[in-house]
Amino acid sequence: MPLTTHLVHQYLRHDKKFPHVWCPGCGNGIALGALIRSIHHLGYNRDDIVLVSGIGCSSRMPVYVDFNTLHTVHGRALTFATGIKLARPHLKVIVIMGDGDAMAIGGNHLIHAARRNLNLTAIIMNNNIYGMTGGQHSPTTPYGMRSTTSPYNHIERAFNISELIVTAGAGFVARGTVYHAEMLHVLIEKAIQKPGFSLVEIITHCHIQYGKLNQKGTHIDMMKWQKDHAVTVEKAQKMTIEELKDKFTIGVITDQNLPIYYDEYEKVKQRAQLSEK
Ligand code: SF4
Repeated sequence: MPLTTHLVHQYLRHDKKFPHVWCPGCGNGIALGALIRSIHHLGYNRDDIVLVSGIGCSSRMPVYVDFNTLHTVHGRALTFATGIKLARPHLKVIVIMGDGDAMAIGGNHLIHAARRNLNLTAIIMNNNIYGMTGGQHSPTTPYGMRSTTSPYNHIERAFNISELIVTAGAGFVARGTVYHAEMLHVLIEKAIQKPGFSLVEIITHCHIQYGKLNQKGTHIDMMKWQKDHAVTVEKAQKMTIEELKDKFTIGVITDQNLPIYYDEYEKVKQRAQLSEK
């Protein structure tokens, strides 16, 4: 599908919610475009979609689009989404979170949503820092990097979001970048179509906070870094550990069919009704 802005604009709340809050060059707009194209391409009616988010720069995404939207509290987007899906199972519920929102404050919700295989799609924008709240380190800030709360270099090691969620038991996990925009909407489409819990981790850049604090250059330099360090899952299988040392993989990381929480819950209800007779 062509990367036209015309299509994306059809879904935006131009009249009420613009101008947006994002810095020029931020990757959030690219990710939002990929999400809109995925939903459009899959043929959903905009009323079939619920976008739920927590707090942070990327969590502003639902504010700007004309779907059913819920902008909730920090770290709790998955809990709201779980309730919506239980109450309205016919809706397609997509949760947008940043790395701090999803992995720190909401970390416990995330691993248990994956383990239960809740019928939700989670999209995590990973820019290695808390952007909106002032550049504090997050659970994905790499060791040795700087943030406003680690001005003498960060002493913790970073979570690998996708690997953590594979281990937590999700049926579908993929990783993309905002540089690889064409691939990104294909990955999001696959995640949305997958029954059960699906995750797309999006490697993006915060050139204003993380980039400035760590001399990473402009948003274009940071996107070039994504281009130079991303390797497809297929290519990585043919590379040595040494060759993969400063690389990360993009593509579908796991795709398996597992029991889905809501189906299992229906079975429990049926068993309970039978035992009452
Ligand atoms: Fe994007 Fe960083 Fe600006 Fe937030 S602070 S809008 S993440 S560039």
